[in-house]
Amino acid sequence: MSSSGYRANPSTAEEMVPPTAERARRNGQPAPTDTAPEPADTSAAASDDSERFRRQYTEIATLAGGLAHELRNPLSTIRMNLDLLCEDLQLGDDPRQQRIGRKLDTIRHECSRLQDLLGDFLQFARAGEPDLQERDLSRLVAEFIDFYQPEARACRIELSPHLSASLPPVRVDPNLLRLVLMNLARNAQEAMPDGGQLEIQTLARDGRVLLQVIDSGQGMPEAVRLRLFDVFFSTKPNGSGLGLPTVRKIVEAHNGTIECDSEPGRGTRFTVSLPATRSWW
Ligand code: ADP
Ligand code: MG
Repeated sequence: MSSSGYRANPSTAEEMVPPTAERARRNGQPAPTDTAPEPADTSAAASDDSERFRRQYTEIATLAGGLAHELRNPLSTIRMNLDLLCEDLQLGDDPRQQRIGRKLDTIRHECSRLQDLLGDFLQFARAGEPDLQERDLSRLVAEFIDFYQPEARACRIELSPHLSASLPPVRVDPNLLRLVLMNLARNAQEAMPDGGQLEIQTLARDGRVLLQVIDSGQGMPEAVRLRLFDVFFSTKPNGSGLGLPTVRKIVEAHNGTIECDSEPGRGTRFTVSLPATRSWW
């Protein structure tokens, strides 16, 4: 299997804000380097710039989060009224009524897509603020498996858990960990449309606790593997492309790492590594 660890995305703030010289040029002003020598204290200038980037990033992130939140309520009102309208109309078989029915179905479908996208977006926005508690990873994974088992069975996926009974504790947010597991399991499920095997494993290694999620699905080519953690990258017609970026953000907020090995036609393995708490050692 070829593999990759996660790599940092280019900073969103950096993409949104051009460097000082470029900004000046866009504003029709001479670039600072055209008129004046570089300031002597470059580290002070760099720290000014990074402070400005940080402020602008925070502002834009707050705006985007607020907007998503504000969109959610009217959208669910639209969806609810649409459902009621469909019930009230009781469309019959004549061609005109059939056409109306198809249009309403399209609107409902698009509404659902927007609701899913907003949900994924808000999950991504909240993923970086863990409420850390000292917990046994195997126990949390076992709870998740109990919860996920019926869905797996319905998709003809055979779960095979291998959970170590003697893990050192980790500092983890149980709700966010569940989100990590759900995203990895759903991706595995979508990679096995005709069913397959999903192995979930926990183990301790070198002062760290590992979680492995291994599927027997379609795997992915190198070009996909290299872009896995890019925001909005998806190969699925209705994918938001926010699942793995959310997973990565959560893992990073736990001082962990995530790696992926995959072989087209054979399957995929995600490995999350978390630091064990010192109290155990
Ligand atoms: P989405 O599921 O909405 O497409 P994700 O961020 O969860 O977004 O995943 C990004 C892409 O990574 C997927 O579209 C898919 O191409 C690929 N991928 C993720 N997990 C797997 C997996 N277990 N097997 C094969 N491909 C995967
Ligand atoms: Mg996904």
